[in-house]
Amino acid sequence: MDAVARGYAAAGELLGADADEIALVESGNRGLQALIQSVDLKPGDHVLVDRTCWGGTLAMLASLSGVVVDVMPVDDAGVVDVAAARRSADPRTRLVVLTWIPATCGVVNPAEDVGALSAELGACYFVDACQVVGQRPVDVASLRCDGLVSSGRKWLGGPRGTAVLYASRRFLDATRPFMPDQFGAGRTDARRYETGEANLAGRVGLAAALLSYQAAESERSARMAAIADDIRRRAAAATRAYVVERGARLADFVTLAGFDVAKAASDLARAGVTVSVPTREYAPLDMDSRRLAEVMRIAPHPGTTLEDVEVLFDALSHWID
Ligand SMILES: *Cc1c(COP(=O)(O)O)cnc(C)c1O
Repeated sequence: MDAVARGYAAAGELLGADADEIALVESGNRGLQALIQSVDLKPGDHVLVDRTCWGGTLAMLASLSGVVVDVMPVDDAGVVDVAAARRSADPRTRLVVLTWIPATCGVVNPAEDVGALSAELGACYFVDACQVVGQRPVDVASLRCDGLVSSGRKWLGGPRGTAVLYASRRFLDATRPFMPDQFGAGRTDARRYETGEANLAGRVGLAAALLSYQAAESERSARMAAIADDIRRRAAAATRAYVVERGARLADFVTLAGFDVAKAASDLARAGVTVSVPTREYAPLDMDSRRLAEVMRIAPHPGTTLEDVEVLFDALSHWID
């Protein structure tokens, strides 16, 4: 098997899917759009999303004329409240899209329970797992999802301009790809979502990232979770900043707000620490509900050490203590 073929197999194993349910596409956004287009939503159809829904998904849904977007209720922590969502769900719901872990806040939505709700509604279910794959285990069978997408460049540590797309056998058999090219037309596997001409270097890089992640998965996840806990514990003591997420299940990254995060991020960059500053556009519904324009996201990566965390808090102390 060549390197890229092994990448499809590794992605399948990572998600609990068959290799022919996997496509390698050029971004998380494109993958989600391709899946949503295959549902062929009509005016009057309802789509259920969560409050942390990715801005690109909301933008795409808004461009489909006559499609109604409903937002699932959340609890005090901003996590989807599945019981309340079940009570308020519209029977015209044809599609449910869940952001499992958002880009702007380290909450973890109950993806399996939302899968059960989608099945009860008879709706398609897609999971935006861009912040999940490579951070925690994924099993598409227990999610009961029809499709799932993850960026390559995030927790998988792959190259930019790459993403993994999963489409279930059932979904593939029941739908047709939107605007296929000569490569995708007539295909029965998930590669119908790919294009004949593609950035092959990106695919080779993504396949390599998938294989190296597979080799170190469990050890890597436990280490990053421990470092994220340490960061969150230390950040909780700050007087001028607060940790955005709370709840029993939290992601392996920490988001902070309450201070000038953009300026602080440049200070950190000078100290050699890279953090990101996700803005409102990433998850507009959730950011507006939390009255936030931007947050600082501190995400450990496989090489991060506790000494790095010291450097981070030394450089951040001027802003948050
Ligand atoms: C990054 C991200 C996306 C989009 O992925 P791209 O590969 O940047 O297109 C979608 N959803 C979430 C939650 C993300 O973090």
